[in-house]
Amino acid sequence: MAKYIYFFGDGKAEGNAKMKDLLGGKGANLAEMTNLKIPVPPGFTISTQACLHFFKNKQKWPVGLKEELFRNLKKLEKSKGAKFGDKNNPLLVSVRSGAKVSMPGMMDTVLNLGLNSTTLKGLLESTGNPRFVYDSFRRFIQMFGDVVMDIPKADFEHLLSREKKRAGVKLDVDLKVEYLQHLIEKFKELYKKKKKTSFPENPYDQLGMACNAVFLSWNNDRAKFYRRQNNIPDNIGTAVNVQAMVYGNLGNDSATGVGFTRDPATGKKIFYGEYLANAQGEDVVAGIRTPLHFKDLKKQFPKAYQNLKQITGRLEKHYRDIQDFEFTIEKGKLYLLQTRAGKRTAAAAVQIAVDMVHEKLIGKKEALLRITPEQIDRLLHPVIDPKAKVQVIAKGLPASPGAATGKAVFTADEAAERGDKEKVILVRNETCPDDIHGMDAAQGILTARGGMTSHAAVVARGMGKCCVAGCESIKVDEKGNKFLVGKQIIKRNDFITLDGSTGRVITGMVPTVEPSMSGAFGKFLSWADGIRQLGIRANADIPRDAKTARDFGAEGIGLCRTEHMFFAKDRIPLVQKMILATTTEKRKEALNKLLPLQEKDFEGLFEVMGGYPVTIRLLDPPLHEFLPRREELMVEVALLKKGRKTAGKNLKEKEKLLSRIEELHEFNPMLGHRGCRLGITFPEVSEMQVRAIFQAACRVIKKGKKVQPEVMIPLVSLSGEFYQQKELVDRVAREIMKKEKVKLSYMVGTMIELPRATVIADKIARKAEFFSFGTNDLTQTTFGFSRDDAGKFIRVYVDKNILLSDPFQNLDTEGVGELIKIAAKKGRSVRPKLKVGICGEHGGDPSSIEFCNQIGLNYVSCSPYRVPIARLAAAQASLKRTGK
Ligand code: PEP
Ligand code: MG
Repeated sequence: MAKYIYFFGDGKAEGNAKMKDLLGGKGANLAEMTNLKIPVPPGFTISTQACLHFFKNKQKWPVGLKEELFRNLKKLEKSKGAKFGDKNNPLLVSVRSGAKVSMPGMMDTVLNLGLNSTTLKGLLESTGNPRFVYDSFRRFIQMFGDVVMDIPKADFEHLLSREKKRAGVKLDVDLKVEYLQHLIEKFKELYKKKKKTSFPENPYDQLGMACNAVFLSWNNDRAKFYRRQNNIPDNIGTAVNVQAMVYGNLGNDSATGVGFTRDPATGKKIFYGEYLANAQGEDVVAGIRTPLHFKDLKKQFPKAYQNLKQITGRLEKHYRDIQDFEFTIEKGKLYLLQTRAGKRTAAAAVQIAVDMVHEKLIGKKEALLRITPEQIDRLLHPVIDPKAKVQVIAKGLPASPGAATGKAVFTADEAAERGDKEKVILVRNETCPDDIHGMDAAQGILTARGGMTSHAAVVARGMGKCCVAGCESIKVDEKGNKFLVGKQIIKRNDFITLDGSTGRVITGMVPTVEPSMSGAFGKFLSWADGIRQLGIRANADIPRDAKTARDFGAEGIGLCRTEHMFFAKDRIPLVQKMILATTTEKRKEALNKLLPLQEKDFEGLFEVMGGYPVTIRLLDPPLHEFLPRREELMVEVALLKKGRKTAGKNLKEKEKLLSRIEELHEFNPMLGHRGCRLGITFPEVSEMQVRAIFQAACRVIKKGKKVQPEVMIPLVSLSGEFYQQKELVDRVAREIMKKEKVKLSYMVGTMIELPRATVIADKIARKAEFFSFGTNDLTQTTFGFSRDDAGKFIRVYVDKNILLSDPFQNLDTEGVGELIKIAAKKGRSVRPKLKVGICGEHGGDPSSIEFCNQIGLNYVSCSPYRVPIARLAAAQASLKRTGK
């Protein structure tokens, strides 16, 4: 018969850390810790297979599971020397969910399961501590009611607050026995009212119901949302962990807490955590009382503290990763309840990886594979300008770094609703798993309560979102849609700014500055550079962007779209003159005015790139893009004609302009008079641009600096188009070098962005010295999907699994990729040293970069901000390819 339950206890376990698929992360690590002889309360794990069976079989348990559960309960009773449901010495257990990957959206824990009016008496006898016993029972009813039976937590909390008021106390721990007893009665009444049945007395029923609730939680909305957000498959199921209770609420010699072996926000190697004495379970993270720090733990529980430090240090070495652990101290004795790889900010992830290499815990290659390119992306987000004058109104915990500005909103639903249209900051007393959708949509999260390990902090860090938590000086009125700081009121829709790195809460909007590449981050990326084979260039059109790209480690410009220089405000009139010219002479006149401006741009680019190659593409888009919109002009002319405005000269000019626009109008501009077709029909445009490139290059050389210009001809589909344009480039280059008395080496190459070009790539390569795949256009023309319109239906294709992903984001390796392979092969067959790269948006996409590496391209070129991502993705692609 299939085995569904795995026991751990008394120094040995049936599972281990490698069995995460079957036991979930929590179960596998509990087994591993038991095998390592770490003090873990005994228990057992019901496997994920049982959960999958449950869903496949109309929510029925597999045959034999019940008996297996009884057998394991017996084992547990033996190990603890207590009996489940016993009136003298009862065994109580906790029930927790635990999937292979940690999922904050799943079922919360149920503690003290097994308590009823009979076992209560036994527990009173065995502990002699009525306050503890009644406190445990009221917690159990609340947790069971809320987590297993879906009775709103707030209903229980309302009764608890009322009881505290009645007792005249502020904190739960101050409630005396008689009040707890009264509260238990109230809780039971609430349960009966809501569920139309009494609170279950039979411990076996309690356990069965709790296990079912764990299984069911796998498919609750929160869990499904989390899985979608994090690409976790739906078919892996969750395990159930049943574990003997240890009690952190036995009195002031007991405690419960959570911690990290390193700081999860910065990665610094400091033993870090929070705890509460005389508390249980979620108290620390729920923000009920503000937790204390480990420095207090050291004073209050010196022995347990040393023990905890030593054990978790051992666990970190064993797992070779930062550990996030939960513990309980029961009458001075320490127990570990959980350990797992700690969720960390992107900055901490890099810091920890670098430190662990220095500590010889991991190698450089492993470090490189531990960080995802998406994490690098998060590191590149701006922070608050330190020079900015800001009005700090409050300070909370720096729970997740980064800066965020937005309008204050007070419910997760509102944040979710408005978050994709405008910038909002979610402000709450504390967050709970139900708020995940709002947190996801908000720019940042601010909470009044909770520590660094609170729900808000942990989830925000996982999302790479800025968060200030535990900001106790603000009084949040969620219903009234406002918060108060002293006398100041911040209302819904008021702008606030959060600094998640320092915990500052600021009024209004604040300027930000770009991140720097120094420290651990710089070192980490230098390791990536040592591994990767692909060159990384940037798509940049102006010196400022080129400088950003260089700072981020770009080794050249892979695409300068010169039309972006044409679009500059001060140049549009000149460009329009050039377009409207009716004779070549007139056109040249306008072009001559543009020449010095372009020359200056190129000079700037060459200087910034300090000798690295700069690929400059000749003009690409259709000319009418530089003219006023046809429809608008038609309306203007019609109005002028009606005489509503003073007509005359103005009308004549507008009519002339309109007629030229009509001439230039195209039904399919993307497939029209653009790319090299412009340079062929108006060679003087290409000539001006080439002149500007080479004059700029000569000028920079004369300053004693190096340049490497690469002139790129766009949208070629016929070899003749390229040959003709190359001849023009070479002729003008020769003329200028002669005139300037400078000799410089340069290349002329082409973009491959049309399917025809890919299949005649050998002919093009006879004269082309490099290829750069314009994968935006190549995707557009290979699929016949308009790049401006396809967004509407691609989503449907992805939903229906016709496409795995948007081919404009992730390169379609099957189709477009195949054409790239053909072109690279054909090109290199006639020119073995042909330099081949890509410069479409895919150049910054990790999966596309992996493909480019696989097929042996020389470089990828992407937007400046994606350069560090591409550096890491390229290194990871090399590591995956070589398997070393
Ligand atoms: C491309 O087509 O991939 C490309 C880089 O050019 P553009 O996006 O300017 O058309
Ligand atoms: Mg293109």
